Amino acid sequence: MRFMLLLLVYVTTPSTVLPRVIRVGAIFTEDLKDSPTELAFKYAVYKINQDPYILTNRTLVYDIQYVPKDDSFRTTNKICTQVGYGVQAIFGPNDLILGSHVQSLCDALDIPHLEARIDIDHGYKESSLNLHPSQELMNIAYKDLMMFLNWTRAAILYEDEYGLIRLQDLVRSPPAKNLEVYIRQTKPSNYRTVLREIKKKEIFNIIVDTSLENIADFFRAILQLQMNNHLYHYTFTSFDIEAMDLEDFKYNQVNITAFRFVDAGTERVKSVLKEMENFHPIGSSIITKPGMISTEPAMMFDSVYVFTKGLEMALVEGPELQIRNLSCEDELPWKEGSTLINFINSVQIDGLTGPIRFKEGKRHEFKLDILKLKRDVLEKVGEWSSLTRLNITDKYAFSEGRPSNITLRVLSRIEEPFVMFKKPSAEGEVLYGNNRFEGFCVDLLEQIANQVGFKYYIELVPDNNYGALNLTTGKWNGLVRELMEGNADIAVGAMTINFARESVIDFTKPFMNLGISILFKIPSGKPTRLFSFMNPLAIEIWLYVLAAYVLVSLTLFVMARFSPYEWNNPHPCVVDNDVMENQFSINNSFWFITGTFLRQGSGLNPKAASTRIVGAIWWFFTLIIISSYTANLAAFLTVDKMITPIENAEDLARQKEISYGTLSGGSTMTFFRDSKIKTYQKMWSYMEYKKPSVFVNNYVEGVARVKKGNFAFLMESTMLDYVVQRDCNLTQIGGLLDSKGYGIATPKGSKWRDPISLAILELQEKGTIQMLYNKWWKNTGDVCTRQDKSKDSKAHPLSVQNIGGVFVVLLCGLALAIMVTSSFSDVTNL
Ligand code: ASP
Repeated sequence: MRFMLLLLVYVTTPSTVLPRVIRVGAIFTEDLKDSPTELAFKYAVYKINQDPYILTNRTLVYDIQYVPKDDSFRTTNKICTQVGYGVQAIFGPNDLILGSHVQSLCDALDIPHLEARIDIDHGYKESSLNLHPSQELMNIAYKDLMMFLNWTRAAILYEDEYGLIRLQDLVRSPPAKNLEVYIRQTKPSNYRTVLREIKKKEIFNIIVDTSLENIADFFRAILQLQMNNHLYHYTFTSFDIEAMDLEDFKYNQVNITAFRFVDAGTERVKSVLKEMENFHPIGSSIITKPGMISTEPAMMFDSVYVFTKGLEMALVEGPELQIRNLSCEDELPWKEGSTLINFINSVQIDGLTGPIRFKEGKRHEFKLDILKLKRDVLEKVGEWSSLTRLNITDKYAFSEGRPSNITLRVLSRIEEPFVMFKKPSAEGEVLYGNNRFEGFCVDLLEQIANQVGFKYYIELVPDNNYGALNLTTGKWNGLVRELMEGNADIAVGAMTINFARESVIDFTKPFMNLGISILFKIPSGKPTRLFSFMNPLAIEIWLYVLAAYVLVSLTLFVMARFSPYEWNNPHPCVVDNDVMENQFSINNSFWFITGTFLRQGSGLNPKAASTRIVGAIWWFFTLIIISSYTANLAAFLTVDKMITPIENAEDLARQKEISYGTLSGGSTMTFFRDSKIKTYQKMWSYMEYKKPSVFVNNYVEGVARVKKGNFAFLMESTMLDYVVQRDCNLTQIGGLLDSKGYGIATPKGSKWRDPISLAILELQEKGTIQMLYNKWWKNTGDVCTRQDKSKDSKAHPLSVQNIGGVFVVLLCGLALAIMVTSSFSDVTNL
């Protein structure tokens, strides 16, 4: 339906009785031209004129003037023109600055002024009535909410300059002494920078005072910075949260709250909205979303009704209203205007914005709904009224995502050092509940529970398995099955994340990384080291040296026989002596070779070239052998080299003497069972059929088998490190066969997965998980000290055990000499 603007005729009579046509003026800023607010104003006038029971026999006509924002000169002019037309009331504008100009003009002329704008001015202007809840009361509402939510740190983000003035009260007198408030002005171009600062400062509670036009940019910045989890709480100052697109924030447990002024669910509002839906004279509608109206149009609609009701009361109860020629120049107030204002001030009606009562021109006794985004829908969770203050009706609304009243059933499995039975501190003391357990995972769970906000009780999995799929029955066992059957909310322990499990249950982000490795017993030392001086040369070298010794001795003997230079006259003075003597008898040849081998002289000197060559080459040979021996002796006698029969998984797979196995019903077992790598397949077929079984029920059993000897245990590196650090007889063989992580398991689709993942990441970044690791792996007193022998080889003196054999050889030599002495009379012939 199209309205024609009625041209108001200037009333020339100086003072007349109020005519049948009641003129009202409205000032809108240009941006509100044809807006839902303007339409709501027009619709209210139309509806009143249509209603035979309201303002009977009188018709409301309006004059609308548009003014540029912040142009007070033109606004004043327009108002003066309307005053000249003889308007009985002026509505608007909703601009803060222009509003106060109009306010003072109306105040001077005693013309009722009805507005619906946020005010920063706490003063009382007699002729003005504001439909918008006063900022003073709004700040009390915010403070009450902050108190209820127990905020200790909060940020206030405001956009326009007046935001600071309006909200400064929250900073100046915060609701609680310990509340730290950080206030920043923002604009779309710096949303991200400011939000990043807030994130860095670890402020999670944010009051957002931004216009609806920019809200999409603001939301984008939140998403980009991943500030959309349960830790964050955004309270929007806008009453129109229902008009915001919160699609991206559904299901991620971010807290979004706001006050609502217009409850479109009430019967009264619904019926008005229904009629309004058809009222769109210029193609646009007052209804922003089906069944919903924004706060500003609703307040505008109510303000027209408030005026009409006040006027009605004045006409019935008051003195006769006279209409006068008014002008801005004269500055003469409308005498009856103040009477009309008083009647309007005393109006008590229920409008679209709830109960309407005024006190000194301000909304008094109004009610606000508190809306909160819950999973996927905005719900009313409480109310704030200027009389009864805050009343939260949904007690659990603000603990969603951190519902501290919820107790989770946690299943686990005993595994050192992850979850262990706690030893009672005093004899006879009995431990109950969660107190029965201690360990890395127990501490981690406590940290996570504090962060996410839940209580828990720990129970042990009945079949004591982590969980493996039985390929024949297709059924799972252990913790995995319990989660699948919904018997637990989460499973905490050394639970490995793998493909098969991830397809039936959910895992959080990993809190620890690991891989499969081999635990083996360090081979015990050699039985005797008496003859370890022999070690530097291999036994065959010793034999070759012996053979070389005999060969060279005989060669020397034969060479000396053939060479004439080795034959000497024993009596050089007897020139004709036919008896010639050769110094290299068989004995002397051996003696010469022995002496030179041991780097000693023998009293014999070869004279012939051939024998000298033999001698020289032997000296060279001994030089190399002795220096090699000396060099190697030091290394051999000081470095205690550990020699293990296996070096890696391939070695294990290749042999049959050392048996090997894994934990049964766990991911290590399924790793070998499902592997496509040849070596692991071979190992699996060995383990599968080996009798007695090589699968153990727990790690303690596996480690005990390794300690007994001749058994290699394939286990996860985390547990292996723990065991190896505590038992110096055990060692890790080779590197890691794979790489994976431990996570906290939840049933598929559990809402706990994301908050727990976030908590894990945060604990990781803060270094808490590393601290817990150090506590349970390194700091306990039972860590054994391993000697790194390669590092301090110089500090090892050689003992009798190392070189005692030399003495044995010496004694044997002496004994032989004595025996030879006693059995041969001609010692010199030896
Ligand atoms: N942590 C492993 C699991 O989750 C146990 C293992 O198989 O070594 O099954």
